Amino acid sequence: MTDEIRKLKEWIDGSSNIVFFGGAGVSTESNIPDFRSVDGLYNQQYDYPPETILSHTFFMRNPEEFYRFYKDKMLILDAKPNAAHYKLAEWERQGKLQAVVTQNIDGLHQAAGSKAVYELHGSVHRNYCMKCGKFFGPEYIKEAEGVPRCDACGGMIKPDVVLYEEGLDNDIIGGAVSAISRADVLIIGGTSLVVYPAAGLIDYYRGHKLVLVNKSSTPRDRAADLVINGKIGEVFSSLG
Ligand code: NAD
Repeated sequence: MTDEIRKLKEWIDGSSNIVFFGGAGVSTESNIPDFRSVDGLYNQQYDYPPETILSHTFFMRNPEEFYRFYKDKMLILDAKPNAAHYKLAEWERQGKLQAVVTQNIDGLHQAAGSKAVYELHGSVHRNYCMKCGKFFGPEYIKEAEGVPRCDACGGMIKPDVVLYEEGLDNDIIGGAVSAISRADVLIIGGTSLVVYPAAGLIDYYRGHKLVLVNKSSTPRDRAADLVINGKIGEVFSSLG
């Protein structure tokens, strides 16, 4: 066990108010690609960059292309939670962790058993008809040919995910801010911390045990009290 891991273990053992803030890197060990790793979606070849395809304007103007990318790269329904998701759920059951705040839309924290999850960017598991509001599960979207349409009224279906140019849900932000501002230990993991306003939420943390667990460096490394460079599933597993 390295000194850094030992310190993290000590902080976790001594806390009953941990909050976790995470991003796409939490799910790469579940084989869902992130955006900014070398094998992430930014480094694969598409006609447009992912942030363009995943924008509100693009969705409205070019839903066929949006859904081609979305179904192929974001809707990975056979993905299973990894050691990081399971460890966070275990800490919650033990009364140590109060909330997971995630930028992910894959639902893997809930699949691992976490209950208090603030999904800042929504979820691929919820989809609704833009005309009549009928809800649909993710399988309906995955199996639809081309653009999924409502089986009741024929309207276009939109995933309940926050696209670029769209605002975040105020209640979810409120819950996340409240949890972060009361946290004793804030663990940030698997995120490049460059997507705003989500990344700005960590500024509400007021404690002195800010931990960053990431494969690569982030703009906030210097502000952290503890930085662990590594794969989050492996790091959490090594805590015992
Ligand atoms: P990002 O792709 O910008 O950054 C991911 C970060 O995680 C990188 O710094 C990378 O080095 C690190 N990382 C990758 N694998 C890791 C691992 N195993 N352990 C530790 N660190 C690891 O992701 P972001 O900051 O979340 O921002 C991208 C946006 O894209 C988010 O808004 C998110 O909603 C969305 N997104 C979500 C998913 C998902 O739901 N799984 C997947 C791709 C993108």
